[in-house]
Amino acid sequence: MDKILVIDDSPVQSGFLCSILKNDYIVEARHTAAEGLAAVKEGGYSLILLDVVMPGMDGFQLLEELKSTKLTQHIPVILLTSLTDVQYEEKGLLLGAVDYVTKPFNPVIIRARVNTHIQLYRYQMQFMEQAMVDELSGVANRRRYEDEGAARWQEAMRFELPFSICMFDIDKFKLYNDTFGHPAGDRVIASVAQRVASFFRRSTDLFARYGGEEFVAVFMGSQAISAFEFMKSVRQAVEDLHIQHNSPVCPWVTVSVGGVTVVPKAGDRLDTCLKLADTMLYDAKRFGRNMVVWSNQNGEQWREK
Ligand code: GH3
Ligand code: MG
Ligand code: MG
Repeated sequence: MDKILVIDDSPVQSGFLCSILKNDYIVEARHTAAEGLAAVKEGGYSLILLDVVMPGMDGFQLLEELKSTKLTQHIPVILLTSLTDVQYEEKGLLLGAVDYVTKPFNPVIIRARVNTHIQLYRYQMQFMEQAMVDELSGVANRRRYEDEGAARWQEAMRFELPFSICMFDIDKFKLYNDTFGHPAGDRVIASVAQRVASFFRRSTDLFARYGGEEFVAVFMGSQAISAFEFMKSVRQAVEDLHIQHNSPVCPWVTVSVGGVTVVPKAGDRLDTCLKLADTMLYDAKRFGRNMVVWSNQNGEQWREK
């Protein structure tokens, strides 16, 4: 069930709204804008019903705040108010409210408008999710990496956490396509992606198809040596799929992995870090493929085999 947040200083009004909507939605109420803002930041709401006139921060100010924050700007807000003057309606809609309803309101109309905006929100979420998924493999796509990778990088910087990033590349994949055909190659990309993705299940993990037969992974909290050990098991899991390949590297499809663990500091850049991971990948290819090569920020290197 979708969650709706009612922000209204009148317990009578918010109680009335809850009673209208509670059969179809999970409805929660807050009685000041500040409490409402705190609740929204906790996340998970599909719609906000916002009173305009409240003591302290009013509904317009809160709406402005929500619309200027990346985390909350996509949540639809319906303004509910006793201010009937058209200039207020104009102001509310220009600030980004999806609808403006004046009190006293008709329960049937409120329910209908809420249903419409919840439906639109679901479509929007579905569209946004699809736009972040790679169609062939079902894992995150590069756009998602660009978005989330940057967020993880900032978190690591703020909390002074080790940040690991690595590039994967399927070995001798041109040869695979030449031998088994492009459609079979597509299925290999999907199988490898799904197997590797199963290792990156934490909320702060990110694994994405970077392009072609290349993938990128981001994870937090591990020291370089344990990141290296972990990636060795991931690389081995791909080999253990035992997908037949006539490559000089191995009878099975394999990946080479290059990665780096750093504790990012102000001024450091994620793309520099990714380039370093790519250099490690280049080394893994050079040293014979089907291996992990890892580095830390001091340039120490760990190499399998
Ligand atoms: P290396 O071990 O050095 O990585 O050799 P490689 O053959 O994998 O590397 P190269 O970069 O020469 O070739 C990558 C191949 O991956 C070429 C391209 O046809 C194939 N490829 C890229 N994207 C796709 C895809 O979406 N589907 C399929 N089937 N093949 C793809
Ligand atoms: Mg490649
Ligand atoms: Mg390759």
